[in-house]
Amino acid sequence: MFLEQTSIELIHAGVERGSFGHVLFDFDGTISLIREGWQQVMVPLLVETLSRTPEAEPVTEIQQLVERYIAKSTGLQTVYQMIWLADEVSVRGGQALAPLEYKAVYNEMLLARIDQRIEDLKAGRAQPEDWMVPGARQVLEGLRQRGCTLFCASGTDHEYLAVEAELLGVAGYFNGGLHGATDDYRNFSKKILIDRIIEDHRLAGSDFLTFGDGYVEIEDTKGAEGVAVGVASDEASRSGVNVAKRARLIEAGADVIIPDFREQQSLLEWLFARRG
Ligand SMILES: [Mg+2]
Repeated sequence: MFLEQTSIELIHAGVERGSFGHVLFDFDGTISLIREGWQQVMVPLLVETLSRTPEAEPVTEIQQLVERYIAKSTGLQTVYQMIWLADEVSVRGGQALAPLEYKAVYNEMLLARIDQRIEDLKAGRAQPEDWMVPGARQVLEGLRQRGCTLFCASGTDHEYLAVEAELLGVAGYFNGGLHGATDDYRNFSKKILIDRIIEDHRLAGSDFLTFGDGYVEIEDTKGAEGVAVGVASDEASRSGVNVAKRARLIEAGADVIIPDFREQQSLLEWLFARRG
């Protein structure tokens, strides 16, 4: 069911809404497209690493295993994906590196892919809008105008998050702070942050709203009884819904699915309308 004359899909149309004061955003794939294509770096790295182990299955099987895992773990801190990798290497009789070493290899490969984008933004050869989910800035503005406190949470390392949010000119909207991953990974997660926001501000779950394109933030939000908007962004084409993301977000419990924020005005009107 779609909100009239929009591509805003209401999965749980009856969800409680109207009083959100605290709003969490995921960063990559939800606001930023700078890291678009990270899966094309992580999947081959994991597949190749696992294929080199003594007891490796045929590569097609490993490919499927890795793709399933990445889909399910999107939104988690990178280090957990690398802990998974190290475990899977050991299970197959291989000598695993430390997860933080795998993470350093991955970061280096990904940075090689996105370096040009960052340099172009820094030099003004690219505009922030070139590397943002359409309408993201407007939705942040609209929420601040409604008096919301905005938080940004990312599984990407904090140092990168801070630079990239600044380059896109969105850091200033997050009056609740930017919260990226650190090497002290046990003490940070989207779940810890969500639980802390709800506890600190004594919120009912339904006062809390999340926007994300990953399984993890949607599941954690629904676990805290908040409202979750799944952003099924097609990061490469920048228009329409990514069908695989949509399915995963619905499975994680998303209340609403949007392709991007082009219709943010209708979306915010619906989210902030008190019913009855
Ligand atoms: Mg994301």
